[in-house]
Amino acid sequence: MPTYEYLCRDCGKITEVRESLAEKEKGLGHTCPSCGSNNMIQYFGNTIVIASTHLH
Ligand SMILES: [Zn+2]
Repeated sequence: MPTYEYLCRDCGKITEVRESLAEKEKGLGHTCPSCGSNNMIQYFGNTIVIASTHLH
């Protein structure tokens, strides 16, 4: 099962989450174990990819 990293946008902590692709595609929210926030985005190494329609 692949591991994904999620960055908490509230406290900045990175959490590793193991989930199958099927689970990931369901778009289940993740909860930060540190602060309890579910304001998390997937983290790709040093690059934070933010979904944006402003950029081409
Ligand atoms: Zn947090």
